[in-house]
Amino acid sequence: MAYKISDDCVSCGACEAECPVSAISEGDGKYVIDADACVECGACAGVCPVGAPSAE
Ligand code: SF4
Ligand code: SF4
Repeated sequence: MAYKISDDCVSCGACEAECPVSAISEGDGKYVIDADACVECGACAGVCPVGAPSAE
């Protein structure tokens, strides 16, 4: 199951640079993860200051 970014995202952009497969991009009001590209490494969750990405 790919990671997903919740509405808690404050669009800081920190996760985008950490993603090894460039699956994260800025969306409308928050950052979004391309579920087909995500390899579930968890790096985005590790750097996010508000805990927005999760593997639910
Ligand atoms: Fe990218 Fe890893 Fe986050 Fe998936 S879990 S979006 S591969 S940093
Ligand atoms: Fe949003 Fe967290 Fe990514 Fe920052 S690190 S853009 S708050 S999901």
